[in-house]
Amino acid sequence: MDFDIIIKNGRIIDGAGNPWHSGEIGVKDGKIVEINPKIKDDSKKVIDARGLIICPGFIDIHSHTDWILPGSRGQESTLYQGITTAVVGMCGEGMAPIPEGKEEDFLKLISKIDPILTQFEFPYHTFAEYLEYNEKKRNSANLVFFVGYGNLQWASGQGGENRPANPVELRKMKDNLREAMEAGAFGISTGLIYAPQVFAKTEEIIELAKVVAEYNGLYFSHIRGEGATVLKAVGEVIEIVEISGCAGGQIAHHKISGKPYWGTSKETLSLIEEANERGISITCDQYPYNRGMAGLMTALPPWVREGKNEDILDRIKNPEIQKRIKVEVTEGIEGFENWIRDEGFQNMYISTVTHDNWKDIISKNITEITKIKGFSDDFDTFFNLLIDNELSVMITIQSMGEDDIRRILTNPYQMVGTDGSGVPASFSAGAFHPRFFGTYPRILGKYVREEKVLPLEQAIRKMTSFPAQRLRLQDRGLIREGNWADLVIFDPDKVIDKATYEQPYQLPEGIPHVVVNGVIVVERGKKNRKAPGKVIHRPT
Ligand SMILES: [Zn+2]
Repeated sequence: MDFDIIIKNGRIIDGAGNPWHSGEIGVKDGKIVEINPKIKDDSKKVIDARGLIICPGFIDIHSHTDWILPGSRGQESTLYQGITTAVVGMCGEGMAPIPEGKEEDFLKLISKIDPILTQFEFPYHTFAEYLEYNEKKRNSANLVFFVGYGNLQWASGQGGENRPANPVELRKMKDNLREAMEAGAFGISTGLIYAPQVFAKTEEIIELAKVVAEYNGLYFSHIRGEGATVLKAVGEVIEIVEISGCAGGQIAHHKISGKPYWGTSKETLSLIEEANERGISITCDQYPYNRGMAGLMTALPPWVREGKNEDILDRIKNPEIQKRIKVEVTEGIEGFENWIRDEGFQNMYISTVTHDNWKDIISKNITEITKIKGFSDDFDTFFNLLIDNELSVMITIQSMGEDDIRRILTNPYQMVGTDGSGVPASFSAGAFHPRFFGTYPRILGKYVREEKVLPLEQAIRKMTSFPAQRLRLQDRGLIREGNWADLVIFDPDKVIDKATYEQPYQLPEGIPHVVVNGVIVVERGKKNRKAPGKVIHRPT
C-alpha cells in the first residue's frame, strides 16, 4: 500500500493503559491503516520516532478554546502540548445559540468573558448553524461541543436576575437545548459560581438534564463550590445525574480550593466512587497546578453580581455597599464561594486588565498592589481594580494543596483537561494561566518522570482513551487499525512544561510531532498552517 505517513522505530503506547510495544504505524486518508512490527511499503513521508513514544492524540476534556476561535484558529498553545481534540462550551459559557434579534445583546454577554471578542463576527443563530460555521472555518484540532447553561438562560430572556426561570423561559431553554442536542452537542455544561447561573435551583438544572437524557447526553459542571461547600456541590452533580437519568456527570477541573478545606478530596473521591458503585456514572477532570483562574468579580457576593454590568458597577461604587460587602465577606455568607475569606487577597494574582493605568501590576497579588499603588487597604484596591477596568479583570488564585492534586490525579475516575484555550505562541496579553501551554507535558514530565506519582501508561490513558470513552467516541483515543490518526510523538526523557505563572507563554519541550486526522500539524517541534480538525458530532 501507498501510505501517506509511516512512523518507524518508536515505542507505541496504545492509550488503553497497556504497556508499550514496538511497532510501526501506517497512516492513509486520515486513518491508522496498519500497525505491524515492520511496515515494508512506501510512503511519501516517514517519521523516525527512534527513542520516542507514539501515543494517541490528547483529548482535552475541558477546554475554553471556543472563546479564542472567533479571532484565531491556530490553537497553538494546545497543539504544541499534543492536544488533537478539544471539548468546548464549558462552565456554562459557550458561544451559541444566538436568537435572532439578540445579536447586539450577545456582544454584551461575551464582553464579560473578554472584551476583545466583541470585535469579531458571529454569523449564526442556532446551534446547528454554529457547528456548521465551525466546520467551514477549519481549525487545527478537532472540536466537541457542549451547550452552556448560561447561554440557554440568556437566550430564554434571563437578564441576570436572581430568580428561577418562569415557565415560558424554561420551555425556551428546553427548546434550544433540544435543538443543540439534535445538531450534535454532547450535553450541557454549567458554571454554578458565575452569575446568573449561581442563582439556579437544582430542580431547574434537573429539568434540563432530563432533555439531555433523551439523547444519552452528559452533564458537565463547574460545581457550586470547590471549598467549604465542595461535598454538597459534588452531591448536587450526583443528584442531577441520578434523577435526570442522563448518561453521566463530570466534575470539571476538580480541586479543593482554600487551605481550611485541604484534604477533603478523600471524601469527594469517595462520593464519586460510591456513586459509580450504585450505577451512576460520575467522572472528573483536572489540570495539574495549584492556582485556579477566574474573573476577579466572582469574589463579590452573588447579590452584588445581579443584573447588567452597569448595575454591578453602580453597586460597587457605592461606599455603603462597599461596607456591606466587607462585612459579608469577612463574616461569610451561606452557599457563597468566598475567595477573599478563604484564600485571601495575598493569593490573588492579576492576569489581565483592560485599563492602561493598571498594566504595570500584571502578575502581582492584590496585597502587593495595595503597597505599590498606595491604597488604604486591600478592599480599596479590589474595588478600584473592578471599577477602573469595568469589571474586566482576570486573576489566578493560589488555592490548592499538593496532596489533593496528587490524590485526584491518581484516582481512576480522573481524566486530564486544561481548562485553557489554544492561544498563539506569540501571545502577549497579560499573564494567563500556564495551563494553557503546559498541562499535558507537566503531567508527563513532572508527575510521571520526575516524581513517579503515576505510571506513564496510566497518565496516557487519562489523556486519550478515557475521555474518548466518556464521549462515546469509538474511533479516537486508541491506537487501533481503523481509528482516526490523531497521534502524539514525544520524548519521555525530555517532555516538560516551560510555562510559569510569571512567564505563561512558553512552549513545552519534548513533543516533536503531532498528527491530526492523518495530517502532520507539528513537525520537528514546529507548527504548520494546516487545519485538518473536524467538528465531531455526538454519536447516535
Ligand atoms: Zn470552570
